[in-house]
Amino acid sequence: MDSFGEQSKNECGKLKKSSVLNVLCDMTLEKQVQKLKSDVEKNTELLNESQEFNKKIAEFISNISHELKTPLNVIFSAIQVLELYKDYTDEKYINKRNQYLEIMKQNCYRLMRLINNLLDVSKLDSGFIKLNLHNRNIVDVIEDITSSLAPYVESKGITLTFDTNVEEKILAVDSDKIERIVLNLLSNAVKFTPEKGKIYVAVQDEGDNVYIKVKDTGIGIPEDKLQIIFKRFGQVGGNYMNDSRGSGIGLYLVKSFVELHGGKISVESTLNEGSEFTIKLPARVIKEEYPGEDNCGSRKEQIGMEFPDIHYKV
Ligand code: ADP
Repeated sequence: MDSFGEQSKNECGKLKKSSVLNVLCDMTLEKQVQKLKSDVEKNTELLNESQEFNKKIAEFISNISHELKTPLNVIFSAIQVLELYKDYTDEKYINKRNQYLEIMKQNCYRLMRLINNLLDVSKLDSGFIKLNLHNRNIVDVIEDITSSLAPYVESKGITLTFDTNVEEKILAVDSDKIERIVLNLLSNAVKFTPEKGKIYVAVQDEGDNVYIKVKDTGIGIPEDKLQIIFKRFGQVGGNYMNDSRGSGIGLYLVKSFVELHGGKISVESTLNEGSEFTIKLPARVIKEEYPGEDNCGSRKEQIGMEFPDIHYKV
C-alpha cells in the first residue's frame, strides 16, 4: 500500500520515495481585505440610504411647512379683512363676513387634517392604533359615505357613481377607519380629476373577500411612482400637477388602515386616462354580544377635513 512517508515500487520495480509538498499560504491577510471590502460596501449602502432619508426628511419638512403656512396665511388675511369690516352693518358686509368666516373654517379643517394625519403616523409607528371592530354592512358604510359626498363632487362638475353586486355583506370593520380610507381615496380622485370627469365607487362581494374600488378618469399616475405613493411621505412630485404639494401621508395611512383590517390595497393607472384603487378585505365577522356604536358625529368633521377647499380655490 502506498501511503505518505512509505516507500513503494514503481512500474520498473524501482523503489519510489513518497514525499509531501506543503504549500502554506497565509489567508489571514486576504480574508481581512475581503472583510474590509464588504464592510466598505455595507457602509456605503448605509450612507446612501441615510443620505436618501435625510433628503426625504428635508423635502418633507419643506412640504409640511408649506402645508402649514398656506392655510395660516389665508386665516390671517381673512382676520385682517374681518377687522376692516367689523363696524359695517349692511347686509352686503354681513355676507362678506360670513364668506370669510367660512374660508377660515375650511382652512382650520385643512390644518386639523394635517395634524391628525401626522399624529396617526406617529401612533402607527409606535403601534398605538387599535381597530374598533364591529360587524357592519359594508355596502351601507361605503354607499352612505359616497352619497353624502355626491353634492360636493357634483359641484365640481364631476359625476359620481356608486355600484354594488350585493345588497348586504356583513364584515367586521372599524367604520371610522373605513370612512377615512374612502374619503381619502375620493378626495384624491376629486383633486386629480378635471371637470366633466367621472368617479366610480364600487363594492363587490366575491365570497371570501370584498373588493372596494375607487376609479377616476383623472390625470393618472406615472408607472414608476405607483409604489412610491403608498410609502410614508411618498409623492409623485414634478410639475405635472401644479396645484398642490401635500404631505404625502394620506395613502400611507390608507394602506396602513387597510392592512390593520387584514386587507390589501393596489392601484392601476394610465397617464391622462385615470386611476383605479382596489381594496381587498377578508370577509370576516366577529362574535358580538351587543352591536357597538360608531362615532357618527365625526363624519361631518372628517368630510370637512378631507374636502377643505371643495367650494373655492385659495
Ligand atoms: P397627500 O396626503 O399629500 O394628499 P397622498 O398620500 O394621498 O398625498 O397621495 C400621494 C400622491 O399620489 C399625490 O400627491 C398624487 O400625486 C398621487 N395620487 C394619489 N391619488 C391620485 C389619483 N387618484 N390620481 C392621480 N394622482 C394621485
